[in-house]
Amino acid sequence: MNTREIYCCGCGREVAARLTDGVEIYPHRDDLYDLPFWKCDTCENFVGCHHKTKDRTRPLGCIPTPELKRARMRMHALIDPVWQDGKMPRGKLYAEISKGIGREYHTAETRSVEEVDIAYAVAKSVVAAIASGGMR
Ligand SMILES: [Zn+2]
Repeated sequence: MNTREIYCCGCGREVAARLTDGVEIYPHRDDLYDLPFWKCDTCENFVGCHHKTKDRTRPLGCIPTPELKRARMRMHALIDPVWQDGKMPRGKLYAEISKGIGREYHTAETRSVEEVDIAYAVAKSVVAAIASGGMR
């Protein structure tokens, strides 16, 4: 069995995650059957992989809980349109969020809903500053 030490947000510690695929994770999505996933067998949460890269089983980040996934989706709904619409380059936006939270920000590396909420508040003020023309 292929296992890998990954931080699991559900368990609150590093776990020996098990490599599996979309057949187990998304049984109703046969388009995802070939994709690799790392699953924590203790809490049954899982994380996807950088499957389009050479190292296709490299995890995207830590293993999130469903609540954390929802918080991250909220964050993406707020920040993705900003760089997608060209209001600010993606790199600069992430740099602004990182500055606001005091360390480098990566959505996939967030470990708790609280952590995402803090970054979300920062992102909101950045978005507001852009909207008021105070930031280019
Ligand atoms: Zn777990």
